[in-house]
Amino acid sequence: MARANVANPGRGDRRRGGGAREDDKSVFKTTTGVEAVASFEDMGINENVLRGLYQYGYEKPSAIQQRAIMPILRGRDVIAQAQSGTGKTSMIALSVCQVVDTSSREVQALVLSPTRELASQTAKTIQAIGLHANIHAHACIGGKSIGEDIRRLEHGVQVVSGTPGRVCDMIKRRSLRTRAITILILDESDEMLSRGFKDQIYGVYRYLPPDLQVCLVSATLPREILEMTSKFMTDPVKVLVKRDELTLDGIKQYFVAVEKEEWKLETLCDLYETLTITQAVIFCNTKRKVDWLSESMRSSNFTVSSMHGDMPQKERDEIMNQFRGGHSRILITTDVWARGIDVDQISLVINYDLPNNRELYIHRIGRSGRFGRKGVGINFVKNDDIKILRDIEQYYSTQIDEMPNNIADL
Ligand code: ADP
Ligand code: MG
Repeated sequence: MARANVANPGRGDRRRGGGAREDDKSVFKTTTGVEAVASFEDMGINENVLRGLYQYGYEKPSAIQQRAIMPILRGRDVIAQAQSGTGKTSMIALSVCQVVDTSSREVQALVLSPTRELASQTAKTIQAIGLHANIHAHACIGGKSIGEDIRRLEHGVQVVSGTPGRVCDMIKRRSLRTRAITILILDESDEMLSRGFKDQIYGVYRYLPPDLQVCLVSATLPREILEMTSKFMTDPVKVLVKRDELTLDGIKQYFVAVEKEEWKLETLCDLYETLTITQAVIFCNTKRKVDWLSESMRSSNFTVSSMHGDMPQKERDEIMNQFRGGHSRILITTDVWARGIDVDQISLVINYDLPNNRELYIHRIGRSGRFGRKGVGINFVKNDDIKILRDIEQYYSTQIDEMPNNIADL
């Protein structure tokens, strides 16, 4: 379903036409014949997990949950794609809660994520949903005490949600025993199978039992990633969305023409009041730029938080807690924050720098508009960035207009 462009039909049609040429080859169609199950009860979720779910605030499965949970529970390999904020990571949490056997304290499910913050968010969701089912999940992530990891793993958990480096380390130390693992789930799987991570994932995978169930989850699954899945997946059930359905209706996208780099800072300061209305995330392309921008804002007496991957984990954790708790409202960060992080009060995302690839664009703006909420994405574009912005617009058959003056009202 291509989005109807009511305000400017001509424009939308052109885009749709432009996208369709490529679509034949590069977009896998939504798998037909995957039945949708409209309630958690009808999925056969056990009573204790159901209690956890309801208590956590879920009443009804989202579209992706309706289609992908059953194949996961039946033991099939699954490739699940859906827009950001539609319940994919929660679906992972729910599924592992249902599949593990709580009479055992051996690790049975392994979830891998690209960042420590996402891995621990997922572990917390599993703990919450699995509360009454007595499910124990451990976040096995870099930057934390190795001794504590060993202690937790030796005490016994059914689920590990981790980042590949630390998980691999724990397996090699034999603190994480893999023999009872039946399911491996890669969240943000296109990132996990991309060049930066692939070897690490393989490093974990080769220690896992042979008849392993593998599930891949992401909002973005480029063709080159889908093509490599045949190497480690068996006849997977695919629930995929078309590329032009990826941007969410609830997220309005704008650009501000800043001409030169030097104008961005002033533009951001002008927007400050708007940013603080709820919560906002500002993306820069480098850690240095994050440091520079937060210092610049602070020296002009604006209150901002900042976070990137070179900070000690303790500091990262503190900033996450502050921001999740709403004590800080503006976060300046890198792509360490682009994927998966769920803070429902974020209604504004600013690309201070345009992202380096098309997938990141979807993930970044997807930090707002969580689970049907409204969001706004604003892109700062220099003169020579306009081409990149047009490319994104065309690739996703979406519309990015110039930011109106009354942006605060939106
Ligand atoms: P995704 O991984 O697709 O980006 P998440 O799993 O992070 O999405 O979910 C986004 C938000 O929606 C989270 O706050 C989550 O708790 C909430 N959510 C997920 N599934 C449901 C559901 N079935 N009912 C209500 N809220 C849900
Ligand atoms: Mg997610």
